[in-house]
Amino acid sequence: MTDQFRSPILLALIGHPIGHSLSPLMHSAALKLLRLAGRYEAWDVSDLKQAVEKLRREGYRGASVTIPFKRDVMAFLDDLDDQARRIGAVNTVIHREGRLQGTNTDWEGLLRALRKVTDLFGKRIVVLGAGGTARAALYGLLAEGGVPVVVNRTEKQGRGLAEEFGCPFYPLAEIGDLAGDILINATPVGMVPEIDFSPVPAAALRRFRLVADVIYNPMKTRLLREAEEAGCAVLSGMDMFVEQGAAQFRLWTGLEPPVDRMRQVVKQELERREGKQV
Ligand code: NAP
Repeated sequence: MTDQFRSPILLALIGHPIGHSLSPLMHSAALKLLRLAGRYEAWDVSDLKQAVEKLRREGYRGASVTIPFKRDVMAFLDDLDDQARRIGAVNTVIHREGRLQGTNTDWEGLLRALRKVTDLFGKRIVVLGAGGTARAALYGLLAEGGVPVVVNRTEKQGRGLAEEFGCPFYPLAEIGDLAGDILINATPVGMVPEIDFSPVPAAALRRFRLVADVIYNPMKTRLLREAEEAGCAVLSGMDMFVEQGAAQFRLWTGLEPPVDRMRQVVKQELERREGKQV
C-alpha cells in the first residue's frame, strides 16, 4: 500500500445550499464499496476562504465545488489546470503535495455519458445556454471533434460565448429553424420545482436525433419526454452527474470508481424523491 492510502481519505463538498446534493451519497457509496478508510463530508459554506483553508490545514484529499462557488473558488487555489481556466469554473479541488489544484470534470462527465450513446466527431450539436455548464459542454464537444452551435435566450451572453469558442450563435427564439444531430439543454429550465417547463417548443425536437439534458432532477424532464414523443433518443443529466463524480474520484484516489454502484445509489435516491415529490 502506498503512503497516500495509509491515512483516511477526507473529502468534502463545498456549496450553499447543499441539502439536496447527491454527491455525499454517491462518493460515500464509492468509498464504502472499495473499502477505503475515509469520508466525504457536506459543508454548507458561508465563508469560502475559510473552507478552502480548512481543506489545506486538515489534509483533505480534495473537494467537490458546487453552486454558488464554482467561479469564486478559483481565487483561493494554488493552481488551475487548462480545463478550469478555459471553462472558467472549478468543480473539483485536488490537494496534492501541499498544493490545492482546481480542475473541472463537468465536461468529462458529459462526454463520457454522450459517448455511451453516440459518436461526437463531426456531429452538429446545438447547445442551449451560455452559463458555466454550457461552457463545459463546448469545451468537451470541441475537444472531441464535435461541431457545436450556441443557442441562448440573451443574445449578448450567447454571442460572446460563441465567439470565444469559435462557434455560430442563434437566439433561442430561432430554435424552430435549426436542425442538428444532437440537442443539449445546458439551462436550468425544467428542473424541480419548475418541472412543467421546457426550453424548446416540442415541434422543434423532431429535427434532432438525440436530445440530452444536463438536468437530473427530475430524471426525465419535460424536454426529454417530448423528445421521446418526437422519436428522438434521450439522455438524462443523471449519467453526466455520475460520470463527473466518477472523474473526481479518479483524480482524488487514483483508483477506478465503482461507477455502476454510484449510478445505482443516485438513481434510487432520485426515484425516492420523485415518488415523494421533494
Ligand atoms: P447558469 O450559469 O446560471 O446558466 C444559466 C443559462 O440558462 C443561461 O444561459 C440562461 O440564459 C439560461 N436560462 C436560464 N433561465 C432560462 C429561461 N427561463 N429560458 C431560457 N434560458 C434560460 O447555470 P449553470 O450553472 O450552467 O447550470 C445549468 C444547469 O446545469 C443547472 O440545472 C445545473 O443543475 C445543471 N448541471 C448539471 C450537471 C450534471 O452533472 N448533470 C453539472 C453541472 C450543472 P440567459 O443568458 O438568457 O440568462
